Amino acid sequence: MPMKYGFPTRKGTLAVLLGGFLMAGGTTIILTANRPTLFINARILTMNDDRPFADALLMNGRYISAVGDQQSLEQELPWLTRVIDLRGKSVVPGFVDAHSHFPSSGLARSFLDLTPPPVGDVSSLDTLLRRVGEYAARRPRGEWILAFNYDDASLAVQRHPTRQELDRVAPHHPVYLWHRSGHMGVANSQAMAELGHQDESHARSSFEKNNFEPQRDSQGQLTGLLQEGVAPRLGRLLMKLPLRDLLNALLYARDSYLQAGVTTVQNGFADLLSMRMLFWAQRLGIIPQRIVVWPAYEKMADRISSEISGERLGTATDALQRALDWQADPEYFSLSALKLSVDGSPQGRTAWLTEPYRSTGGKAPDYRGFPALSAQRLKSQVLEFHRAGVRLALHGNGDAAIDLIIEALDAAQLQYYRPEIGHIVVHAQTIREDQLPRLKQLGATVSFFPAHTFFWGDWYRQTVLGEERARRISPLALADTYEVAYSLHSDAPVTPVNPMQILWSANRRETLSGHVLGPEFIISRERALRAMTLDAASQNGLEHDRGSLEAGKLADIVVLSSDPLSEPDVRNIRVERVWIGGRDVYMREAASR
Ligand SMILES: [Zn+2]
Repeated sequence: MPMKYGFPTRKGTLAVLLGGFLMAGGTTIILTANRPTLFINARILTMNDDRPFADALLMNGRYISAVGDQQSLEQELPWLTRVIDLRGKSVVPGFVDAHSHFPSSGLARSFLDLTPPPVGDVSSLDTLLRRVGEYAARRPRGEWILAFNYDDASLAVQRHPTRQELDRVAPHHPVYLWHRSGHMGVANSQAMAELGHQDESHARSSFEKNNFEPQRDSQGQLTGLLQEGVAPRLGRLLMKLPLRDLLNALLYARDSYLQAGVTTVQNGFADLLSMRMLFWAQRLGIIPQRIVVWPAYEKMADRISSEISGERLGTATDALQRALDWQADPEYFSLSALKLSVDGSPQGRTAWLTEPYRSTGGKAPDYRGFPALSAQRLKSQVLEFHRAGVRLALHGNGDAAIDLIIEALDAAQLQYYRPEIGHIVVHAQTIREDQLPRLKQLGATVSFFPAHTFFWGDWYRQTVLGEERARRISPLALADTYEVAYSLHSDAPVTPVNPMQILWSANRRETLSGHVLGPEFIISRERALRAMTLDAASQNGLEHDRGSLEAGKLADIVVLSSDPLSEPDVRNIRVERVWIGGRDVYMREAASR
């Protein structure tokens, strides 16, 4: 799919010098002069309550200078205005990625992809093992093999592969399979050894903090499954891989977010290394999108301690301060919240629930998942950042985790009242109705993950959660009832970067098998679009310059192939063109001009 780039940096010469390099990534480049541009014959969904629809828009330089009706805009056009006739096509604000892990979605493409249907094709253990074996055979002995997105819930055997099975197909490489949830993975023996988990040895490695242990089978043997606190950090694994492959992953992610119309991308669990990489990739013109980063507190703290003589240095606030030094120009690169993880994921049975899982996957019948950190530790961290005025993004999927988050926020607000701070609960999949008014009271917002209903809805109903809890998953309409502000996200690479899939799921709540989960929680298409643009911007403190199409805001503009409010199946809609800050950065090949 060809693309063309106008560069977001103000360093045009540098961008030209890098041109050859960018073409190597499969794109063509032009530098567009920023002429004033008038769009006419457009169906513009502005997300601005004062004027929800318009048919013309004028952009000048990096900003939108007018939105309204064609006749009045044509009255006073600047010199040399270029006119683009959109022939009735729909225009929306550039999508604001409310939560994902840019550029991780490029990793599966650049390394080994084990994604199950309907996105990929790995639905049996045999296929999975064969792919790992074939891939390993092509790589030099001893080189790390990283594979992405396998899902035990989608394999016919409905279990994880084991260390021993991986040893059989790839005996000469350290192998790690990254689970689609991002919360766990399976290693072969060589990888286990390199990660510090020796079989039969009960010596504690540095990964066995927080009282989490690698899983063992009934004979006490390590199975290779490493969950949550024991799972290796992605950044650490990636350091073992060739730089060229990492760069390809970055370019692939850039292109797929652009094709989806996402003009502000997010890395919602960043360490210092990935922040530096993203910062420079954007400065050099490799990434045209605006970037939002949520530094992960635990990663920041670790990095600081390892950089300075292995000693734990300073407080969490110091760690954040260190991160904030990177916030040179918030229009392009901003740190909007600090990420703390309170539990895992329901599809992997690591979300922390108040009632036991319906089927516990071999664990005790009263198994309810578990918290990622102690209540006391969470409360002291929340208090410290809240006092310092730092917005927190708190990953909480299980209702027990959300109870703890509410308790921590309540204690913090009681001591230092900051009604405007807007802490974010991320995912909140099994949130209960009684928790919504509490969040409203605390000034918190939610970032929901609605495409889960499609990808794991059947698994929730039939296996892990049971009918009633599955029905109430991600109750968007209920959040509106209690006036809790929210955004919608893809959590890519967990699900694909595709705002139209999110829109479809929020508006239909259909599972893969076609079952509708809790139709009373459906929201309208208009509401869903706002949650992926203006509300996602507001949640991150960025609504002053993006999220809606109105005069004075950045010209981040997306043209769609048909109207998202009337197209029968919105998943058929394609993004045809994208402008970021007034620069023409993407055009779909088949799009009419
Ligand atoms: Zn995430």
